[in-house]
Amino acid sequence: MSKQYNIGVIKGDGIGPEIVDEAIKVLDAVAAKEGIAFNYSEYLMGGVAIDATGVPLPQETIDGALKSDAVLFGAIGGPKWDNLERHLRPESGLLALRKALNAFANIRPAIVYDELVNASTLKPEVVQGVDLIVVRELTGGIYFGEPKGREGDKAYNTMVYTIPEIERIAKVAFEIAMKRGKKICSVDKANVLDVSQLWRETVERIAKDYPEVELSHMYVDNAAMQLIRNPKQFDVILTGNIFGDILSDEASMLSGSIGLLPSASTGGPTGVYEPIHGSAPDIAGQGIANPIATIASASMMIRFELGLEAAADRIDNAIKKALAEGYRTGDLAAFDAKTVCNTQEMGDVIARFAAE
Ligand code: NAD
Repeated sequence: MSKQYNIGVIKGDGIGPEIVDEAIKVLDAVAAKEGIAFNYSEYLMGGVAIDATGVPLPQETIDGALKSDAVLFGAIGGPKWDNLERHLRPESGLLALRKALNAFANIRPAIVYDELVNASTLKPEVVQGVDLIVVRELTGGIYFGEPKGREGDKAYNTMVYTIPEIERIAKVAFEIAMKRGKKICSVDKANVLDVSQLWRETVERIAKDYPEVELSHMYVDNAAMQLIRNPKQFDVILTGNIFGDILSDEASMLSGSIGLLPSASTGGPTGVYEPIHGSAPDIAGQGIANPIATIASASMMIRFELGLEAAADRIDNAIKKALAEGYRTGDLAAFDAKTVCNTQEMGDVIARFAAE
């Protein structure tokens, strides 16, 4: 009997269902070739969950995610739910899910496909060949540190990291680097912050367990500049929560298109894999969304969470081939398109190439 994997599926709102359906199509095409099987269980989150149950993250979704091998997620949110109180809004469902799954590692690749170098706002010679991953600590640092608050005319937040928190995110980054270019740049502000000094010392200690990986350190202000000046120097960027928040958005724009890039929130019992973009209410229901970011998220999911390297390579190569042969959804139609296709057609093409 073929090896079975249980995938939790959260389609969400807006274009979520359209793009997740295409990722499932591609996963199934690959499974048939690799002699494995994916079993899908759908769960509600976001606006659809609010409409059905009154809350953005029903307990059933948390339970379902926890018993899945991995979770594939589309996107949530939309104008219909914008006026609800913050804790009842769709986005709070995603934050609560990441917390429930103890997803302390946010992994965001930034890849510039050769065929789309002109989609970037930077010069082609600067971005051609960029293939980097930002590994961001997601559950600690200044966004969560205590004390925080407001008193009279002052307000304060606290940047705190413990050694175990730094160790576990560093290990995630080193494991990823081992499977790639074996280079890590750890980004901090150790010239000013005590917490960054601890970060640096701890990362250096973990590095001793990975002698093949070349480790360097960079201050965050310099890293922000280097990402624009010479992004090809990076393989894996390891950093804390607030620096990673900013740098991963900066890195994602190297590729020039929001419809291409995947991400993961992982580290706990089950990881959540999702496109970096939102639910795109402006184009929802029209069948024109670019499904590539979600298909690439499915590839990341099976590579990082399930260890299915060959199957993931099939998907990544199929995406590259579809772009190389000039298939483009509307968002990228201006960049050397030979065939402009809708969401389903792009899914069909990638599924076909992935099964070759
Ligand atoms: P967005 O990413 O949804 O859309 C920004 C622009 O990019 C829009 O013009 C949209 O049409 C386009 N776009 C996005 N994905 C695309 C794709 N796959 N193919 C083609 N074009 C695409 O960001 P927004 O408009 O700021 O937010 C819309 C909703 O999504 C909001 O409710 C927001 O809170 C939510 N959101 C959710 C997530 C998430 O679920 N992780 C992330 C960001 C925003």
